[in-house]
Amino acid sequence: MRAALKQTLVELLQSPQARGRLWGANGAPPPKPAVILVLGVNGTGKTTTIAKLAHAYAREGERVVIAAGDTFRAAAIEQIKEWGERVGADVVAHQQGADPGAVVFDAMGAAESRGADAVIIDTAGRLHTKFNLMEELRKIRRIIERKEPDAPHEVLLVLDATIGQNALIQAKAFAEAAEVTSVCLTKLDGTSKGGIVFAICDQLKIPVRFVGTGEQADDLAPFSAESFVDALLR
Ligand code: GDP
Repeated sequence: MRAALKQTLVELLQSPQARGRLWGANGAPPPKPAVILVLGVNGTGKTTTIAKLAHAYAREGERVVIAAGDTFRAAAIEQIKEWGERVGADVVAHQQGADPGAVVFDAMGAAESRGADAVIIDTAGRLHTKFNLMEELRKIRRIIERKEPDAPHEVLLVLDATIGQNALIQAKAFAEAAEVTSVCLTKLDGTSKGGIVFAICDQLKIPVRFVGTGEQADDLAPFSAESFVDALLR
């Protein structure tokens, strides 16, 4: 019974087909620069996840540009700058209240002139009306596409594992507003078991790619359906 249950759950988590061109591509050389658009509500761990991703690239000797596209909060801009220094990534930031599109434009330009391997783009972290969210993301995409017609290569949605059903509600809202290609589930180091990923995989068909397992730059792991289910059934 246990083995059958495990198999069913693992298959469910593995069922969403790859949507992005980076993490689903089987051995294909990554585009240069790889462009990753990161979405998520404030507090889910979006900034930390961006820092962790940048750190993973930098650790491999790759050059990363982070676009501080969440221009709504001054603290968010400062926080991402600090992370950039810590993990060795270039951060392109404007003042609070600036047009996120302008930040993305400059970041794409900086990536080009510096020969960056990856551009990681932060976006607004407030779940305002779906229409505004869609408009803002559409504009950002247009700016990205002007420089890199097949980018963004991944649209990563950051979800907090500790908020249960709310994560599904957030995922649905973002999936309706943008073509989300991947999910990162944060805070799996706490008491949460993150069972909500079953609903996300089943209902939204979006693959989970990463899990956040702590607050430090190294605390990001590729998602493994097998070990996730093992931990759940333990
Ligand atoms: P943002 O508002 O979505 O950008 O969220 P932050 O990146 O600022 O993270 C919010 C809080 O969650 C911070 O205190 C982070 O240290 C913490 N955090 C982020 N990811 C993780 C994780 O994987 N595990 C734990 N335990 N805390 C996390």
